[in-house]
Amino acid sequence: MLKKLCPKLQANSILELDLDELIDSGIKGVIFDLDNTLVEWKKDTLSQEVIDLISRFKDKGFKLCILSNALEHRVEAVAQVLNIPYVSRAIKPRKSPFRKALEIMGTGPEETAVIGDQLFTDILGGNRMELYTIWTPPLSSTELLSTRAVRQIERLVIKRFRKKGFLK
Ligand SMILES: [Mg+2]
Repeated sequence: MLKKLCPKLQANSILELDLDELIDSGIKGVIFDLDNTLVEWKKDTLSQEVIDLISRFKDKGFKLCILSNALEHRVEAVAQVLNIPYVSRAIKPRKSPFRKALEIMGTGPEETAVIGDQLFTDILGGNRMELYTIWTPPLSSTELLSTRAVRQIERLVIKRFRKKGFLK
């Protein structure tokens, strides 16, 4: 169980991702979480840096999809600005929404990465599907009370992974 929470890669920010390295790892499709990954929690404003990053992904030929547990109108608004497909109300870490995203992108699990800020939804779900899981710390510290409780557990889990050398 614990192993399934361990991301394959950790980046300090999505802006630090090395796209060529992803290509070298055989990644052709990338699934993005929405809240606290692409935008701050419950905010719909994309930073110019993120907009530019998504353009760079597109220029390199990546297939992209947003996968979020949030309601459709919020996910759709961001997806429209970025002009990429989305799956909303995803109930991550369930497998079915991840399958749907793969289907939309037309990529297999072994050539797909998922990028998100939550171990118990994005990373666990991605690992269950055997995707290339990338964990990025949350963009803002504002979130649901229930999420904040989960964060404390996350911190313990991350600490343990670091101690065991699974993560840098
Ligand atoms: Mg998130």
